Amino acid sequence: MGSFEVIQGDITQSQVDAIVNAANTTLLGGGGVDGAIHRAAGPQLFAACVPLNGCRTGEAKLTPGFELPAKWVIHTPGPVWQGGHHHEAELLANCYRNSLTLAATQGCRTVDFPSLSTGVYGYPLAAAAQVATQTIATWLAASKQELRVRLVAFDATTAQAYRQAWAALG
Ligand code: ADP
Repeated sequence: MGSFEVIQGDITQSQVDAIVNAANTTLLGGGGVDGAIHRAAGPQLFAACVPLNGCRTGEAKLTPGFELPAKWVIHTPGPVWQGGHHHEAELLANCYRNSLTLAATQGCRTVDFPSLSTGVYGYPLAAAAQVATQTIATWLAASKQELRVRLVAFDATTAQAYRQAWAALG
């Protein structure tokens, strides 16, 4: 059980137990939301990521949030879109599922996701939103935990795509 909603905002401002970072496989920072999270968390976040030795696409690793309002950061590298026939959907679903499971294992009650892979990684927005909402819905239905899950869209177009995908699940 639990809940899901789409909001528009800046995930570095989220006052939640965990935010998810659209990381790359090095976990050593990058552009987009990853860069914003590292800037807001301060240099301790980079120092905490170094000994993690990277992370495979679709997997998830945890650090503290340091100077962020969020207590924890869950780092998950999404797939780079390569046309759709390179397991992109399966890998993106793994990101959401593994991040949710890690949050629950850590005792989180609230977790915020950015729109994984739809920035620099080029995953088509509507397709990504469909995978994300389906995976979150399935995970919540199977879970005994009361987890409040939010998708924090940076812009209105992204928010609309996830709202539509959620509504279309039926
Ligand atoms: P990826 O490399 O996984 O595609 P990006 O960071 O390039 O990740 O983009 C993922 C999404 O995160 C995009 O929709 C982008 O607009 C959004 N984004 C960028 N900064 C923030 C932020 N501070 N809060 C929430 N979303 C953000």
